[in-house]
Amino acid sequence: MFFASLRRLRHTTGVRLTLWYCGAFMVSTLAVLSVAYFLLASTLQRKDREAIQLQLQQCLLAYQRGGVAAVENEIATQKNQAGKIVFFVRVADQDRHTLSMTIPSKWERFDLSQLDVEHEGKPQKWMQIPARGEDEVLEVASSRLPDGVLIQVGLSTEEREDVLEDFLGVLAGIVLPVMLVGLGSGAFFAMRALRPLRALTQTLQSILSTGQLTARASVRATGDELEELSALFNRMLDRIEVLIVGMRSALDNVAHDLRTPMTRLRGMAEMALQEHGRGEGAHAALANCIEESDRILAMLNTLMDISEAETGAMRLDLQPVRVREVVAQVVDLYADVAEDKGVTVSLAIPEALCIVADPNRIQQVFANLLDNAIKYTPPHGAVTISGEQHDYQVILTVVDTGMGIAAEDLPRIWDRLYRGDKSRSQRGLGLGLSLVKAVVHAHQGEVTVCSQPGGGAQFSLSFPSVSSS
Ligand code: ADP
Repeated sequence: MFFASLRRLRHTTGVRLTLWYCGAFMVSTLAVLSVAYFLLASTLQRKDREAIQLQLQQCLLAYQRGGVAAVENEIATQKNQAGKIVFFVRVADQDRHTLSMTIPSKWERFDLSQLDVEHEGKPQKWMQIPARGEDEVLEVASSRLPDGVLIQVGLSTEEREDVLEDFLGVLAGIVLPVMLVGLGSGAFFAMRALRPLRALTQTLQSILSTGQLTARASVRATGDELEELSALFNRMLDRIEVLIVGMRSALDNVAHDLRTPMTRLRGMAEMALQEHGRGEGAHAALANCIEESDRILAMLNTLMDISEAETGAMRLDLQPVRVREVVAQVVDLYADVAEDKGVTVSLAIPEALCIVADPNRIQQVFANLLDNAIKYTPPHGAVTISGEQHDYQVILTVVDTGMGIAAEDLPRIWDRLYRGDKSRSQRGLGLGLSLVKAVVHAHQGEVTVCSQPGGGAQFSLSFPSVSSS
């Protein structure tokens, strides 16, 4: 159990980020400290070599002044000066016989036989004489005078190696604190960076556990990708909430709207049964049953058409369509209804006006709009259907002189099963405009309405023109 949760923890982004940060922090800190170590080592070596060179110069000058005795004198004077560095100094004749040599007793472990090793017949400018069984070396600089006398000055690396060892000790001592600082700051930054993701997870968990879509992730104004992600996530939740609320209310409306015709259907069937299927009453009841069933079927078919058009599942037989021709057929179909009601319908669409569309669906759209226009226009009113070609669009309008639409109804008339209060006296399912909108959108078009109560209504449809589609 404990190991399982430890393994799970190891795979979390937070722990991975922390370890990556800590690793990067350690590597860069160690790189900086290593560079510091090598700089210190080379500085110490340069300083030692400068001191050796200076001492060599002083010995050469002393020799030129008064021979070996003067050199020994110079060294003796230096020994008495407090704080002066003690050097190894050797004076040898041209046959390599040592004439004088000063060496601190603790440096006797260096292998001095190598002092006479020459390179291409000349003494080497810099020699590294190793100590027996130790790491340090005696660094020696040599110079030969015109009379063949060789002067060698050296200094042990012991002291500078002590300094470097101390420095390494300090480095080793700070590795653990550096690691802890790396881990601590890594964990801190990982926590900060992952805070928006944790908020998203918590929001999702709360939605899953409560089923309430109202929860939202908190968005901090950091201006980064995670802020954008949280904002998008909240916007997605907003959209889902609107869709689900819409679906619920559509479902409620469908249930409510189906209940009345179903109850009526049942009543009529009961009546026919009581009449034992014979007689005029039974005949009328059965005819009503069929009429009511047709109404329910029409409602269900329209609902399915709307959802097919909205989800993109509607099959469209797209082809260039002469709009006037298609709309004229619809006007013909409604000619009797309009005449009965005393409403004049006129068509003002140019012959050549063309769109790419499914002609049957376009007829369905205009049938719904014309049906509404005639239905909601009192006798002696007029309905005009016109069309115009614009740059990239074809605009078609259906204008009537009817009762108009109340401002509070305007945004809702496109909802499934919504019917305006004043329209309830008229026949209708409240699905006509939902279908119009869904079909027009499926044709990449737009539909808008403009109306004032008592001032008629104008429905405008725009479709991409043939050349731009
Ligand atoms: P309905 O079956 O009620 O006509 P629609 O979806 O076709 O359903 O229309 C929804 C509502 O929009 C109608 O109930 C009505 O209130 C309003 N409406 C639609 N067309 C017109 C119009 N031309 N004039 C006035 N109101 C209209």
